[in-house]
Amino acid sequence: MTKRSSITTFLWQGEIPIEVHRKAIKHSYLRIKAQPARVVCSLPRAVSDMDLHVFLQKHSDWIQARWQAMQQNKPVEVTYQQGERIFLWGKPFFLEVQIVDGVKKPSCFTRVDHLVLQSGVDLSTVQREALVYEFFKQEFKKELSAVLAQEALRMGVSVQQWGVKRMKTRWGSCNPKAKRVWLNLELVKREQYLLRYVVIHELAHLWVPNHGPKFYQVMDQYCPPWKALRKQLRF
Ligand SMILES: [Zn+2]
Repeated sequence: MTKRSSITTFLWQGEIPIEVHRKAIKHSYLRIKAQPARVVCSLPRAVSDMDLHVFLQKHSDWIQARWQAMQQNKPVEVTYQQGERIFLWGKPFFLEVQIVDGVKKPSCFTRVDHLVLQSGVDLSTVQREALVYEFFKQEFKKELSAVLAQEALRMGVSVQQWGVKRMKTRWGSCNPKAKRVWLNLELVKREQYLLRYVVIHELAHLWVPNHGPKFYQVMDQYCPPWKALRKQLRF
């Protein structure tokens, strides 16, 4: 057996499938994976089945909560702790907090399925959140400017000004007179097609300012599945 090889077995915790990897590592850890949905548990080779059972019991609340959140496709409340799951474009990432000696300017980036926060000193929850959202905003603006350009062209409208902010009760807003749209930065956590749906909705207001029947005719034309998409975005 080579050093890198691992032994994989399966077990169930209630109805939750758990994939167990035993390999040459020092610490046990848990992850939730999508497609197919499963919990992945990585263990050092020497951990017995009994110890594995104890480990899973100890973390059963964590497993249950995150499993349910994934099933409902909803982001869980984030407190920016190591290993926490954070969504970017509908895909879960695991927060990896790194303290690297000599790093002056903290940074945030993705690496495979990890969202890495790198800094020279430990950051507070508020600082971590600010760093994550700074990164999210860049990602969001890149995607949004492309989607806005595509949809405005397709729908034959022009936007004078657009912006991004975190909002609590709405996904977007539009001022038809000023031809200005705002999009909710929280959309960065959801699948890209939901951002596109919200963009089409806001641009449709450039044709019809209110939510009357004419507005929904425009939606039928440019975004036929709008009813199903709207359901996915209920606050
Ligand atoms: Zn509207």
